[in-house]
Amino acid sequence: MVQEVNPLPTHAERLKAISGAVFFEMERKKSELREAGRSVIDLGIGSPDQTPARHVHSALHAAIDDPGAYGYPRTQGTPGFRQAAAHFLSARYQVDVDSDTEVLTLLGAQDGLAHLALAVADPGDIVLVPDPGYPIYEVSVRLAGATPYPVPLREDEAWLPDLQAIPEDIARRAKLLILNYPNNPTTAMAPVSVFDDAIAFAKRYDLWVLHDAAYIELTFDSTDSAAGPAPSFLARPGAKDVGIEMHSLSKTFHFAGPRLAFAAGNAELLRALTVIKSNIDYGVFTPIQSAGIAALRDHHGAIAAARALYLQRRDAFLAPLIRAGWAIPVPQATMFVWAKVPTTEDSRAFADRLLRQTGIACVPGIGFGRSGEGYVRFSLVRAAVELNEAATRITAVL
Ligand SMILES: *Cc1c(COP(=O)(O)O)cnc(C)c1O
Repeated sequence: MVQEVNPLPTHAERLKAISGAVFFEMERKKSELREAGRSVIDLGIGSPDQTPARHVHSALHAAIDDPGAYGYPRTQGTPGFRQAAAHFLSARYQVDVDSDTEVLTLLGAQDGLAHLALAVADPGDIVLVPDPGYPIYEVSVRLAGATPYPVPLREDEAWLPDLQAIPEDIARRAKLLILNYPNNPTTAMAPVSVFDDAIAFAKRYDLWVLHDAAYIELTFDSTDSAAGPAPSFLARPGAKDVGIEMHSLSKTFHFAGPRLAFAAGNAELLRALTVIKSNIDYGVFTPIQSAGIAALRDHHGAIAAARALYLQRRDAFLAPLIRAGWAIPVPQATMFVWAKVPTTEDSRAFADRLLRQTGIACVPGIGFGRSGEGYVRFSLVRAAVELNEAATRITAVL
């Protein structure tokens, strides 16, 4: 449970900069409503509600029965998991990596995202973060004592970064550029030119690139779920010279709780992240890595099922809203709906009123950064019928 941090004198200054006020506020309001006996449909947090595939569950179960599994694992991850990750990258995106030096196991992508800035940025250095963006990007930079520089994403630019607009002196001080496509919260997909531009930019200004590929497999075309994955940054020429990509098992394989992901790409950058992590954690519990091997090796059914699931949910949720005249672009990827606030209220006021009047919780766009203002994000983490019911309730208060 998220807890509000009291500004006690024993707390460090940096806590103030990472308080996550918008999220605390929404959590508090949801609890208040629940305590008052109201039913709340929580489309705020993005926690997957499904269970992993049968064969993944079985692999976990078998590995847990192995008495040899209970020592400390190692930070880098088991050779078996790293090989499965390398094989997955090759099979899905035609990306070739050395599983020994170019793959690092993570305790969820969050682990890698939280710790990478510590490995590349000192106080005074800048990290370029997408705005709106997944909150840990900015928080990780502040925890490292470095300075986040928000790169605005705008609807009229298809939510893609304009790297040319970054001032020269900022670009020179920057040590890292963070990208995330398909994007949370905007659901935008990137053409490969975005990655190519980022690689050229990184070479010009001598900085690293991190691509967060958490939703690379949750793609749809407008009518069915047979679309291919979104493009991989690592598949672009020169990508491995300048960066890494993080792949999470949480969303694609409904494997959020066990905490498993991997980073792949530039060996030097991965080594730096490994140095940080080896001082902090001792790796992922090996039975979880065994289950991850099963998920990555036998992935076709799970990926097709996850796409079909979120496609059906997307349509069930959007239909009543679009019919009621709320012009929401149909997402082509992710498990979210990103919608422009349909009234003159700001995103917080609208989300508040929605919660009070309908019991449906969403995240105000301002929670993802200043450029998120004017929008709200709904997570498709309920069954299609419930989402359809939620959307119908919403239409009553538009
Ligand atoms: C959910 C999410 C993650 C976190 O993934 P874990 O592997 O569960 O830590 C990372 N990035 C984005 C954009 C996400 O939405």
